[in-house]
Amino acid sequence: MALVTYSYEAPVSQSLFDRAAAVTPGGVNSPVRAFQAVGGTPRFMASGAGPYLMDADGREYVDLVCSWGPMILGHSHPEVLAAVQEAVSRGTSFGTPGEDEVALAEEIVDRVGPVEQVRLVSSGTEATMSAIRLARGFTGRAKVVKFAGCYHGHVDALLASAGSGVATFGLPDTPGVTGAQAAETIVLPYNDLDAVREAFAAQPDEIACVITEASPGNMGIVPPEPGFNEQLKEICRAHGALFVSDEVMTGFRVSKQGWYGIDQVVPDLMTFGKVMGGGFPAAAFGGRRDVMEHLAPAGPVYQAGTLSGNPVATAAGLAQLRLLDDGAYAAVDAASEQLRGAVTEALTKAGVAHRLQVAGNMFSVFFTDAPVTDYAGARAQEAFRFKALFHSMLEQGVYLPPSAFESWFVSTAHDDGALERVVAALPDAARAAAEATA
Ligand code: PLP
Repeated sequence: MALVTYSYEAPVSQSLFDRAAAVTPGGVNSPVRAFQAVGGTPRFMASGAGPYLMDADGREYVDLVCSWGPMILGHSHPEVLAAVQEAVSRGTSFGTPGEDEVALAEEIVDRVGPVEQVRLVSSGTEATMSAIRLARGFTGRAKVVKFAGCYHGHVDALLASAGSGVATFGLPDTPGVTGAQAAETIVLPYNDLDAVREAFAAQPDEIACVITEASPGNMGIVPPEPGFNEQLKEICRAHGALFVSDEVMTGFRVSKQGWYGIDQVVPDLMTFGKVMGGGFPAAAFGGRRDVMEHLAPAGPVYQAGTLSGNPVATAAGLAQLRLLDDGAYAAVDAASEQLRGAVTEALTKAGVAHRLQVAGNMFSVFFTDAPVTDYAGARAQEAFRFKALFHSMLEQGVYLPPSAFESWFVSTAHDDGALERVVAALPDAARAAAEATA
Protein backbone atom coordinates (compact mmCIF):
# COMPACT_ATOMS: atom_id res chain seq x y z
CA MET A 1 0.00 0.00 0.00
CA ALA A 2 1.40 3.43 -0.92
CA LEU A 3 2.29 5.58 2.06
CA VAL A 4 -0.10 8.50 2.25
CA THR A 5 0.66 11.30 4.67
CA TYR A 6 -1.84 13.98 5.50
CA SER A 7 0.01 17.12 6.34
CA TYR A 8 -2.74 19.55 7.15
CA GLU A 9 -2.84 20.34 10.80
CA ALA A 10 -5.54 19.95 13.42
CA PRO A 11 -3.54 20.58 16.60
CA VAL A 12 -6.47 20.91 18.99
CA SER A 13 -8.20 17.80 17.61
CA GLN A 14 -4.86 15.99 17.80
CA SER A 15 -4.33 16.86 21.45
CA LEU A 16 -7.95 15.93 22.29
CA PHE A 17 -7.45 12.64 20.45
CA ASP A 18 -4.27 11.94 22.43
CA ARG A 19 -6.17 12.57 25.68
CA ALA A 20 -9.09 10.47 24.46
CA ALA A 21 -6.86 7.56 23.43
CA ALA A 22 -5.44 7.43 26.95
CA VAL A 23 -8.85 6.91 28.56
CA THR A 24 -11.05 5.44 25.79
CA PRO A 25 -10.28 2.45 23.52
CA GLY A 26 -9.12 3.85 20.19
CA GLY A 27 -9.97 7.36 21.39
CA VAL A 28 -13.62 7.21 20.22
CA ASN A 29 -16.96 6.05 21.59
CA SER A 30 -18.08 4.40 18.35
CA PRO A 31 -15.59 2.82 15.92
CA VAL A 32 -16.69 4.52 12.69
CA ARG A 33 -15.86 7.92 14.21
CA ALA A 34 -12.18 7.03 14.18
CA PHE A 35 -10.33 7.72 10.98
CA GLN A 36 -8.73 4.26 10.94
CA ALA A 37 -10.12 3.43 7.51
CA VAL A 38 -8.96 6.68 5.93
CA GLY A 39 -5.94 7.63 8.08
CA GLY A 40 -5.27 10.89 9.90
CA THR A 41 -6.72 12.48 13.02
CA PRO A 42 -10.47 12.45 13.68
CA ARG A 43 -11.87 15.94 13.92
CA PHE A 44 -13.36 16.75 17.31
CA MET A 45 -16.48 18.77 16.63
CA ALA A 46 -17.37 21.64 18.92
CA SER A 47 -20.63 22.94 17.44
CA GLY A 48 -23.04 22.64 14.56
CA ALA A 49 -25.34 25.10 12.83
CA GLY A 50 -27.55 24.26 9.85
CA PRO A 51 -25.45 22.32 7.31
CA TYR A 52 -22.14 23.18 9.01
CA LEU A 53 -19.96 21.67 11.73
CA MET A 54 -17.22 23.59 13.52
CA ASP A 55 -14.24 21.64 14.86
CA ALA A 56 -12.18 22.32 17.95
CA ASP A 57 -9.53 24.04 15.78
CA GLY A 58 -12.11 26.52 14.54
CA ARG A 59 -12.45 25.05 11.03
CA GLU A 60 -15.89 24.94 9.45
CA TYR A 61 -17.11 21.98 7.38
CA VAL A 62 -20.16 21.30 5.25
CA ASP A 63 -21.50 18.23 7.05
CA LEU A 64 -22.45 15.30 4.79
CA VAL A 65 -22.74 12.86 7.70
CA CYS A 66 -25.54 14.56 9.68
CA SER A 67 -24.67 12.49 12.78
CA TRP A 68 -25.03 9.35 10.58
CA GLY A 69 -28.57 10.32 9.60
CA PRO A 70 -30.51 11.89 12.49
CA MET A 71 -29.90 15.58 11.71
CA ILE A 72 -32.32 15.79 8.79
CA LEU A 73 -33.20 19.41 9.66
CA GLY A 74 -29.53 20.37 10.03
CA HIS A 75 -27.82 21.24 13.29
CA SER A 76 -29.31 23.42 16.03
CA HIS A 77 -32.69 23.79 14.35
CA PRO A 78 -34.36 26.56 16.38
CA GLU A 79 -37.71 24.77 16.82
CA VAL A 80 -36.07 21.52 17.92
CA LEU A 81 -33.82 23.42 20.34
CA ALA A 82 -36.83 25.30 21.73
CA ALA A 83 -38.72 22.03 22.30
CA VAL A 84 -35.68 20.57 24.07
CA GLN A 85 -35.22 23.65 26.24
CA GLU A 86 -38.90 23.66 27.18
CA ALA A 87 -38.74 19.95 28.08
CA VAL A 88 -35.52 20.36 30.08
CA SER A 89 -37.07 23.21 32.04
CA ARG A 90 -39.64 20.72 33.36
CA GLY A 91 -37.09 18.07 34.40
CA THR A 92 -34.99 15.49 32.59
CA SER A 93 -36.24 12.02 33.58
CA PHE A 94 -39.13 10.80 35.69
CA GLY A 95 -39.17 7.01 35.30
CA THR A 96 -42.94 7.22 34.81
CA PRO A 97 -45.09 7.49 31.69
CA GLY A 98 -45.39 10.99 30.19
CA GLU A 99 -47.53 12.71 27.56
CA ASP A 100 -44.79 13.23 24.97
CA GLU A 101 -44.16 9.47 24.86
CA VAL A 102 -47.77 8.92 23.91
CA ALA A 103 -47.61 11.70 21.32
CA LEU A 104 -44.43 10.29 19.77
CA ALA A 105 -45.91 6.79 19.62
CA GLU A 106 -49.08 8.24 18.02
CA GLU A 107 -46.99 10.15 15.48
CA ILE A 108 -45.19 6.93 14.48
CA VAL A 109 -48.41 4.89 14.33
CA ASP A 110 -50.11 7.64 12.28
CA ARG A 111 -47.28 7.83 9.78
CA VAL A 112 -46.39 4.18 9.29
CA GLY A 113 -49.41 2.02 8.45
CA PRO A 114 -47.98 -1.39 9.42
CA VAL A 115 -47.16 -0.11 12.93
CA GLU A 116 -50.23 -0.70 15.09
CA GLN A 117 -48.30 -0.55 18.36
CA VAL A 118 -44.84 0.70 19.17
CA ARG A 119 -42.41 0.49 22.10
CA LEU A 120 -39.86 3.27 22.65
CA VAL A 121 -36.23 2.42 23.47
CA SER A 122 -32.99 4.39 23.50
CA SER A 123 -30.91 3.10 20.56
CA GLY A 124 -31.30 1.31 17.26
CA THR A 125 -29.36 -1.60 18.72
CA GLU A 126 -31.92 -1.98 21.49
CA ALA A 127 -34.72 -1.78 18.93
CA THR A 128 -33.40 -4.64 16.76
CA MET A 129 -32.33 -6.71 19.77
CA SER A 130 -35.81 -6.41 21.25
CA ALA A 131 -37.56 -7.07 17.93
CA ILE A 132 -35.56 -10.29 17.52
CA ARG A 133 -36.40 -11.39 21.08
CA LEU A 134 -40.06 -10.66 20.44
CA ALA A 135 -40.01 -12.58 17.15
CA ARG A 136 -38.46 -15.56 18.94
CA GLY A 137 -40.91 -15.31 21.83
CA PHE A 138 -43.88 -15.01 19.48
CA THR A 139 -42.93 -17.89 17.17
CA GLY A 140 -41.27 -20.14 19.75
CA ARG A 141 -38.39 -20.57 17.28
CA ALA A 142 -34.70 -19.76 17.66
CA LYS A 143 -33.09 -19.05 14.30
CA VAL A 144 -32.74 -15.67 12.63
CA VAL A 145 -31.91 -14.97 8.98
CA LYS A 146 -29.85 -11.85 8.25
CA PHE A 147 -28.00 -10.65 5.19
CA ALA A 148 -24.27 -10.12 4.77
CA GLY A 149 -23.46 -6.40 4.78
CA CYS A 150 -26.60 -5.41 6.68
CA TYR A 151 -25.90 -3.78 10.04
CA HIS A 152 -28.51 -3.90 12.75
CA GLY A 153 -26.50 -2.49 15.64
CA HIS A 154 -24.08 -4.42 17.83
CA VAL A 155 -26.53 -7.14 18.88
CA ASP A 156 -24.51 -10.34 19.48
CA ALA A 157 -26.61 -12.48 17.17
CA LEU A 158 -26.61 -9.84 14.40
CA LEU A 159 -22.92 -8.98 14.19
CA ALA A 160 -22.10 -11.82 11.81
CA SER A 161 -21.01 -10.38 8.43
CA ALA A 162 -22.37 -7.00 9.44
CA GLY A 163 -21.93 -3.71 7.60
CA SER A 164 -20.99 -0.25 8.94
CA GLY A 165 -17.90 -0.39 11.20
CA VAL A 166 -17.65 -4.15 10.82
CA ALA A 167 -17.41 -3.65 7.06
CA THR A 168 -15.18 -0.61 7.35
CA PHE A 169 -12.58 -2.46 9.38
CA GLY A 170 -13.04 -5.73 7.50
CA LEU A 171 -13.67 -7.51 10.80
CA PRO A 172 -14.55 -11.19 10.65
CA ASP A 173 -16.89 -12.39 13.35
CA THR A 174 -16.40 -10.43 16.54
CA PRO A 175 -14.62 -12.01 19.51
CA GLY A 176 -16.99 -12.08 22.44
CA VAL A 177 -19.90 -13.44 20.42
CA THR A 178 -20.20 -17.10 21.44
CA GLY A 179 -20.55 -19.97 19.03
CA ALA A 180 -23.98 -20.67 20.49
CA GLN A 181 -25.18 -17.12 19.75
CA ALA A 182 -23.77 -17.18 16.22
CA ALA A 183 -25.16 -20.66 15.56
CA GLU A 184 -28.71 -19.34 15.65
CA THR A 185 -27.92 -16.75 12.96
CA ILE A 186 -28.11 -17.71 9.30
CA VAL A 187 -26.22 -15.20 7.15
CA LEU A 188 -27.21 -15.08 3.48
CA PRO A 189 -26.06 -12.98 0.51
CA TYR A 190 -28.19 -9.85 0.05
CA ASN A 191 -30.68 -9.81 -2.84
CA ASP A 192 -30.47 -13.62 -3.14
CA LEU A 193 -33.98 -15.07 -2.85
CA ASP A 194 -32.87 -18.59 -3.79
CA ALA A 195 -30.57 -18.61 -0.76
CA VAL A 196 -33.51 -17.57 1.43
CA ARG A 197 -35.73 -20.33 0.00
CA GLU A 198 -32.97 -22.90 0.52
CA ALA A 199 -32.48 -21.81 4.13
CA PHE A 200 -36.18 -22.24 4.87
CA ALA A 201 -36.26 -25.59 3.04
CA ALA A 202 -33.29 -26.85 5.08
CA GLN A 203 -34.72 -25.70 8.42
CA PRO A 204 -38.50 -25.71 8.22
CA ASP A 205 -40.17 -24.61 11.46
CA GLU A 206 -36.90 -23.34 12.99
CA ILE A 207 -36.63 -19.78 11.64
CA ALA A 208 -38.24 -17.13 13.86
CA CYS A 209 -37.69 -14.21 11.50
CA VAL A 210 -35.85 -12.66 8.61
CA ILE A 211 -34.38 -9.28 9.46
CA THR A 212 -33.20 -6.96 6.70
CA GLU A 213 -32.36 -3.30 6.33
CA ALA A 214 -35.39 -1.96 4.45
CA SER A 215 -32.86 -0.62 1.93
CA PRO A 216 -29.31 -1.28 3.07
CA GLY A 217 -27.07 1.69 3.76
CA ASN A 218 -24.39 0.09 5.90
CA MET A 219 -22.30 -1.50 3.11
CA GLY A 220 -22.70 1.70 1.14
CA ILE A 221 -26.09 2.06 -0.54
CA VAL A 222 -27.28 -1.27 -1.96
CA PRO A 223 -31.04 -1.04 -2.60
CA PRO A 224 -33.23 -4.13 -2.74
CA GLU A 225 -33.82 -5.43 -6.27
CA PRO A 226 -37.42 -5.03 -7.44
CA GLY A 227 -39.64 -7.50 -5.59
CA PHE A 228 -36.95 -8.58 -3.09
CA ASN A 229 -38.66 -7.28 0.07
CA GLU A 230 -42.06 -8.41 -1.20
CA GLN A 231 -40.77 -11.93 -1.78
CA LEU A 232 -39.05 -12.01 1.61
CA LYS A 233 -42.34 -11.16 3.18
CA GLU A 234 -44.12 -13.91 1.20
CA ILE A 235 -41.52 -16.55 2.05
CA CYS A 236 -41.77 -15.63 5.74
CA ARG A 237 -45.55 -15.81 5.64
CA ALA A 238 -45.52 -19.20 3.96
CA HIS A 239 -43.24 -20.58 6.69
CA GLY A 240 -44.79 -18.97 9.77
CA ALA A 241 -41.78 -16.70 10.32
CA LEU A 242 -41.90 -12.94 10.91
CA PHE A 243 -40.54 -10.38 8.47
CA VAL A 244 -38.62 -7.66 10.35
CA SER A 245 -37.77 -4.52 8.42
CA ASP A 246 -34.98 -2.47 10.00
CA GLU A 247 -35.72 1.20 9.24
CA VAL A 248 -33.33 2.65 11.83
CA MET A 249 -31.50 4.45 9.02
CA THR A 250 -34.23 4.90 6.40
CA GLY A 251 -37.16 5.53 8.77
CA PHE A 252 -38.55 9.08 8.54
CA ARG A 253 -35.51 9.95 6.38
CA VAL A 254 -36.23 8.77 2.86
CA SER A 255 -39.92 9.73 3.06
CA LYS A 256 -42.56 10.57 5.65
CA GLN A 257 -43.05 6.84 6.09
CA GLY A 258 -39.45 5.83 5.50
CA TRP A 259 -38.68 3.05 3.01
CA TYR A 260 -42.15 1.62 3.64
CA GLY A 261 -43.44 4.80 1.97
CA ILE A 262 -41.41 3.88 -1.12
CA ASP A 263 -41.97 0.12 -1.52
CA GLN A 264 -45.21 -0.38 0.51
CA VAL A 265 -44.19 -3.88 1.60
CA VAL A 266 -45.91 -4.52 4.94
CA PRO A 267 -43.55 -6.04 7.54
CA ASP A 268 -44.64 -7.82 10.73
CA LEU A 269 -42.19 -5.77 12.81
CA MET A 270 -40.20 -2.61 12.09
CA THR A 271 -37.36 -0.86 13.89
CA PHE A 272 -36.63 2.87 14.00
CA GLY A 273 -34.00 5.22 15.45
CA LYS A 274 -31.87 8.13 14.24
CA VAL A 275 -34.31 10.73 12.77
CA MET A 276 -37.09 9.94 15.27
CA GLY A 277 -34.82 11.09 18.15
CA GLY A 278 -34.06 14.55 16.75
CA GLY A 279 -30.40 14.11 17.77
CA PHE A 280 -31.16 12.48 21.12
CA PRO A 281 -31.08 8.79 22.08
CA ALA A 282 -34.55 7.62 21.07
CA ALA A 283 -35.49 4.60 19.01
CA ALA A 284 -38.43 2.23 18.68
CA PHE A 285 -39.75 -1.06 17.43
CA GLY A 286 -43.32 -1.75 16.47
CA GLY A 287 -45.69 -3.55 14.17
CA ARG A 288 -48.60 -5.98 14.32
CA ARG A 289 -50.70 -5.53 17.44
CA ASP A 290 -51.04 -9.30 18.01
CA VAL A 291 -47.25 -9.61 17.98
CA MET A 292 -46.53 -6.48 20.05
CA GLU A 293 -49.03 -7.59 22.68
CA HIS A 294 -46.62 -10.41 23.56
CA LEU A 295 -44.38 -7.76 25.17
CA ALA A 296 -44.36 -7.25 28.94
CA PRO A 297 -46.40 -6.06 30.73
CA ALA A 298 -49.14 -7.00 28.24
CA GLY A 299 -47.47 -10.35 27.53
CA PRO A 300 -44.61 -12.60 28.60
CA VAL A 301 -41.65 -11.34 26.50
CA TYR A 302 -39.59 -9.09 28.76
CA GLN A 303 -38.20 -5.77 27.56
CA ALA A 304 -37.52 -2.61 29.58
CA GLY A 305 -35.39 0.56 29.88
CA THR A 306 -34.71 3.15 32.62
CA LEU A 307 -34.50 5.96 30.07
CA SER A 308 -36.94 4.58 27.46
CA GLY A 309 -39.21 7.39 26.28
CA ASN A 310 -37.03 9.96 28.03
CA PRO A 311 -38.93 13.29 28.08
CA VAL A 312 -36.14 15.36 26.52
CA ALA A 313 -35.48 12.82 23.77
CA THR A 314 -39.17 12.44 22.98
CA ALA A 315 -39.64 16.22 22.87
CA ALA A 316 -36.76 16.53 20.39
CA GLY A 317 -38.03 13.65 18.27
CA LEU A 318 -41.59 14.94 18.20
CA ALA A 319 -40.48 18.45 17.26
CA GLN A 320 -38.34 17.08 14.44
CA LEU A 321 -41.00 14.72 13.08
CA ARG A 322 -43.66 17.46 13.15
CA LEU A 323 -41.44 19.66 10.99
CA LEU A 324 -40.89 16.86 8.48
CA ASP A 325 -43.71 17.51 6.04
CA ASP A 326 -43.79 16.91 2.27
CA GLY A 327 -41.95 20.18 1.66
CA ALA A 328 -39.10 19.16 3.95
CA TYR A 329 -38.64 15.82 2.18
CA ALA A 330 -38.76 17.56 -1.20
CA ALA A 331 -35.96 19.88 -0.03
CA VAL A 332 -33.77 16.99 1.19
CA ASP A 333 -34.42 15.05 -2.04
CA ALA A 334 -33.50 18.09 -4.15
CA ALA A 335 -30.26 18.71 -2.23
CA SER A 336 -29.33 15.05 -2.58
CA GLU A 337 -30.04 15.06 -6.31
CA GLN A 338 -27.98 18.17 -6.89
CA LEU A 339 -25.07 16.72 -4.97
CA ARG A 340 -25.24 13.37 -6.74
CA GLY A 341 -25.11 15.09 -10.11
CA ALA A 342 -22.05 17.09 -9.06
CA VAL A 343 -20.24 14.03 -7.66
CA THR A 344 -20.81 12.02 -10.83
CA GLU A 345 -19.77 14.90 -13.04
CA ALA A 346 -16.53 15.49 -11.14
CA LEU A 347 -15.58 11.80 -11.01
CA THR A 348 -16.46 11.29 -14.67
CA LYS A 349 -14.38 14.31 -15.73
CA ALA A 350 -11.45 12.95 -13.73
CA GLY A 351 -11.86 9.54 -15.42
CA VAL A 352 -12.64 7.67 -12.21
CA ALA A 353 -14.70 4.49 -12.63
CA HIS A 354 -17.53 4.71 -10.16
CA ARG A 355 -21.15 3.84 -9.40
CA LEU A 356 -23.39 6.18 -7.56
CA GLN A 357 -26.09 4.17 -5.77
CA VAL A 358 -29.21 5.78 -4.39
CA ALA A 359 -31.99 5.01 -1.90
CA GLY A 360 -34.36 7.98 -1.73
CA ASN A 361 -32.22 10.90 -0.55
CA MET A 362 -29.41 8.63 0.72
CA PHE A 363 -26.55 7.80 -1.63
CA SER A 364 -23.00 6.52 -1.74
CA VAL A 365 -20.20 6.18 -4.24
CA PHE A 366 -18.63 2.83 -5.12
CA PHE A 367 -15.31 2.91 -6.92
CA THR A 368 -16.13 0.19 -9.40
CA ASP A 369 -17.75 -0.20 -12.85
CA ALA A 370 -20.14 -2.95 -11.87
CA PRO A 371 -23.55 -2.49 -10.23
CA VAL A 372 -23.27 -3.40 -6.55
CA THR A 373 -26.04 -5.73 -5.41
CA ASP A 374 -24.48 -7.39 -2.37
CA TYR A 375 -21.71 -7.22 0.20
CA ALA A 376 -19.19 -9.10 -1.98
CA GLY A 377 -19.71 -6.51 -4.71
CA ALA A 378 -19.37 -3.66 -2.23
CA ARG A 379 -16.09 -5.02 -0.92
CA ALA A 380 -14.70 -5.49 -4.42
CA GLN A 381 -14.53 -1.71 -4.96
CA GLU A 382 -11.26 0.25 -5.01
CA ALA A 383 -11.74 1.67 -1.51
CA PHE A 384 -8.27 3.29 -1.58
CA ARG A 385 -9.69 5.91 -3.96
CA PHE A 386 -12.22 6.89 -1.32
CA LYS A 387 -9.41 7.68 1.14
CA ALA A 388 -7.94 10.20 -1.28
CA LEU A 389 -11.35 11.70 -2.03
CA PHE A 390 -12.16 11.91 1.67
CA HIS A 391 -8.99 13.76 2.64
CA SER A 392 -9.17 16.19 -0.23
CA MET A 393 -12.75 17.04 0.72
CA LEU A 394 -11.85 17.35 4.40
CA GLU A 395 -9.00 19.68 3.62
CA GLN A 396 -11.41 21.80 1.57
CA GLY A 397 -13.96 21.94 4.39
CA VAL A 398 -16.35 19.12 3.54
CA TYR A 399 -16.95 16.39 6.12
CA LEU A 400 -17.73 13.01 4.50
CA PRO A 401 -18.30 9.75 6.38
CA PRO A 402 -14.78 8.43 7.08
CA SER A 403 -15.46 5.13 5.33
CA ALA A 404 -16.18 3.93 1.78
CA PHE A 405 -18.98 1.72 3.17
CA GLU A 406 -21.33 4.36 4.52
CA SER A 407 -24.14 6.50 3.15
CA TRP A 408 -23.77 10.23 2.63
CA PHE A 409 -26.54 12.28 4.27
CA VAL A 410 -27.99 15.74 3.60
CA SER A 411 -30.61 17.84 5.35
CA THR A 412 -33.19 20.55 4.73
CA ALA A 413 -30.46 23.00 5.79
CA HIS A 414 -28.18 22.11 2.86
CA ASP A 415 -28.91 25.29 0.93
CA ASP A 416 -27.27 26.62 -2.22
CA GLY A 417 -24.38 28.13 -0.25
CA ALA A 418 -23.48 24.82 1.39
CA LEU A 419 -23.93 22.83 -1.82
CA GLU A 420 -21.80 25.29 -3.80
CA ARG A 421 -18.95 24.73 -1.34
CA VAL A 422 -19.18 20.99 -1.90
CA VAL A 423 -19.39 21.38 -5.68
CA ALA A 424 -16.32 23.64 -5.64
CA ALA A 425 -14.34 21.04 -3.66
CA LEU A 426 -15.22 18.08 -5.88
CA PRO A 427 -12.90 18.55 -8.90
CA ASP A 428 -9.70 18.46 -6.79
CA ALA A 429 -11.05 15.57 -4.74
CA ALA A 430 -11.97 13.63 -7.89
CA ARG A 431 -8.45 14.20 -9.26
CA ALA A 432 -7.00 12.93 -5.98
CA ALA A 433 -9.17 9.83 -6.29
CA ALA A 434 -7.99 9.34 -9.89
CA GLU A 435 -4.33 9.57 -8.90
CA ALA A 436 -4.62 7.36 -5.79
CA THR A 437 -2.78 4.04 -5.77
CA ALA A 438 -3.55 0.93 -3.77
N1 PLP B 1 -29.96 -0.62 12.28
C1 PLP B 1 -29.48 0.12 11.27
C2 PLP B 1 -30.02 -0.08 9.90
C3 PLP B 1 -28.50 1.08 11.52
O1 PLP B 1 -28.03 1.81 10.49
C4 PLP B 1 -28.02 1.25 12.83
C5 PLP B 1 -26.97 2.24 13.12
O2 PLP B 1 -26.31 2.76 12.26
C6 PLP B 1 -28.55 0.46 13.86
C7 PLP B 1 -29.53 -0.47 13.55
C8 PLP B 1 -28.08 0.61 15.26
O3 PLP B 1 -28.50 1.83 15.78
P1 PLP B 1 -27.74 2.51 17.03
O4 PLP B 1 -26.40 2.94 16.51
O5 PLP B 1 -28.63 3.64 17.43
O6 PLP B 1 -27.63 1.47 18.09
